[in-house]
Amino acid sequence: MVAADHERQHRAFLAAIQLRHPWQFRNRGVSEHDEPVQINVSPGWHALLQRLFEEVEARVPEAERGGFRWRRLQSTGGVLDIHFDGVRERVLSVVNRARDVAAVSCEQCARAGWRRQVAGRYQVDCDRHFIERLLTAHRGGDRAVKRWWNSPQPSLGEHSPAEVLQQGPAPELLIDQALRAAMPEAPRLNGAHRQRLEGVWPVMQAQFSERLRSLRLAEFEPGRRASGTLLGLMASDVGGSEHANAVNALARRGFSDLRLRLLSGEDLERPARASDPWSCMLALEASVSIPRYRPSLPD
Ligand SMILES: [Zn+2]
Repeated sequence: MVAADHERQHRAFLAAIQLRHPWQFRNRGVSEHDEPVQINVSPGWHALLQRLFEEVEARVPEAERGGFRWRRLQSTGGVLDIHFDGVRERVLSVVNRARDVAAVSCEQCARAGWRRQVAGRYQVDCDRHFIERLLTAHRGGDRAVKRWWNSPQPSLGEHSPAEVLQQGPAPELLIDQALRAAMPEAPRLNGAHRQRLEGVWPVMQAQFSERLRSLRLAEFEPGRRASGTLLGLMASDVGGSEHANAVNALARRGFSDLRLRLLSGEDLERPARASDPWSCMLALEASVSIPRYRPSLPD
C-alpha cells in the first residue's frame, strides 16, 4: 500500500519535473552511452530536488543549456548522490546545498531527520519513520508489529505507541522500545568462533590501547559472507579516520567480514539519541562479549 503510493507519487513527480524543465532531462543521444536520467529518491526529497531544478533553471543561461544534463539523482545509503554533465561552476553551489538539505530531511516525509542505520541499511529519517523502519526488522512479522503499535503500555502512561505518536514527537522511551523490539538474536559462538574472534583483541588494542574498554559481537551470521558486527566499547569518542584505520588493520589481519562500530559510554546511556542507535542497542541487548584471553577453563 505504502509502496504503491510512493510509486504513484514518484511517477507524478518525474512527469512534472520533465514537463517543467525539459532541457535538464533531455536525452541527447549524442553517444551510444547516453542513458536515461536516473532519479531514485523517496517522496520526502522531492521538494528539495524540485527547488534544485528551479535554481538550475535560474542559473544556467539559455546559451549554455545545450551542454547540461542530469545523469543520476538518487539516495545511496542515505546520501543524496548527484551526477550531471556540463556547466559545473554555475550549479555546484546549489547542488551542494541540495545535498546538505537532504542530509537532515526525512526521505519519507521531509520533516527534520538524520542518517541512521537499521540492520546495516542507512537512510535519513525522522523519529517516526525511523521507528517504522525499525519495526520492519521485528522478528514477529506484521502481526507482532500491529500489536506493538496498538498495545497500551505502563511505561507510556497506559497509552499505546500509536497514541503517543499522534500526540507529538517520539519520546526517547518509545524509540528505545522500538529498538529493543527490532533486535536480532544474540549470537551463539562455538569454540572455533571464539578462538578466531580472540584474534581481534590485539588488533584493536594496537589501534586504541587503553581507550578500548570491551569488544562485543552481534548480527553474527557465519553462513553468509558478512559474518557479524564487531562493537568496540570505547572510553571516549573516536574520529572517522581512526575508525577507518582500525577497519583497515582488521582487514589486513583477515577480519574484513566484521563490520566495525565504535561506541562511547555516553552513546550507550542514551541509545535513542546516539548517532548510531541500532549499534548501541545491539551492544546492550543482542550481543555477546568477545573474551580477551583464551580461557583455560570452560566458561
Ligand atoms: Zn518522516
